[in-house]
Amino acid sequence: MPTAIVVHGGCGRVEENSLAERRAGVRQAAERGWEILRAGGSALDAAEAAVVVLEDLPLFNAGRGSALTRDGRIEMDAAIMDGATRRAGAVACVSRVANPIRLARRVMEASPHVMLCAAGAEEFAAQQGIPACDWRDLVVAERRSQWEREHGTVGAVALDAGGGLAAATSTGGTSGKLPGRIGDTPIIGAGTYADRATAVSCTGTGESILRMTLARLAALWRERLGDAQAAAERALAELAAEVGGEAGLILVDRDGRLAIAHNTPHMPVCAIHAGGIEVRS
Ligand code: ASP
Repeated sequence: MPTAIVVHGGCGRVEENSLAERRAGVRQAAERGWEILRAGGSALDAAEAAVVVLEDLPLFNAGRGSALTRDGRIEMDAAIMDGATRRAGAVACVSRVANPIRLARRVMEASPHVMLCAAGAEEFAAQQGIPACDWRDLVVAERRSQWEREHGTVGAVALDAGGGLAAATSTGGTSGKLPGRIGDTPIIGAGTYADRATAVSCTGTGESILRMTLARLAALWRERLGDAQAAAERALAELAAEVGGEAGLILVDRDGRLAIAHNTPHMPVCAIHAGGIEVRS
């Protein structure tokens, strides 16, 4: 069985001089996930671990280094989905958790729900033994001066040796967003989606991605066209034609075929499979 992992670091506008560091970050995350797959681990574990690496790197807009809301706070969204079982977990508007993707996984595995938000999600985190953090510790100085410009997200899709697919996505959301705003990332089918055939993680203008349910759309096109890259491009073209907006996505299918597509200048991506490793900006 083929195994593969693809990781993205968001399609937002970033300083050109940060690209090398972003490439190194997505590579580090993909290598972490790949180690898990090579050791026989699940796509779910690999995707989660890759996203944790990027949540911890301050350069990326997720976990530490998240974008700030209009009133200068941090509110993060994350989701994870297991393609084989269609189980999913998501959190929205959480401020007091350093790794929202881990909490999303706990929601999937230890609650009867798919999504928890804000104070309720943080209470659940405490019950699950996930330590609370102060959101101020997640603010990176550089990020404060970038309120206006930047958005981004991190995500991973993986295929394991048992044919299992998973998708995981985590974000600080868009810079200057209204408090309480929830983007596409934690919405299953919009920013994150996996089934038995395809796993997808998206980035970009959440308000556009939500209205197109972009991740599910890309999975549907993959099923219809039988071609991963054509499906990703088709879904993005539909988004541009129907609602406009900037977006990018990564996709892996059950045959180990990968797709990477974005309509912005940059989207750092690292893909690893039996054939080798590919890193892009
Ligand atoms: N999609 C994310 C959101 O709207 C942000 C991004 O990927 O740039 O929250």
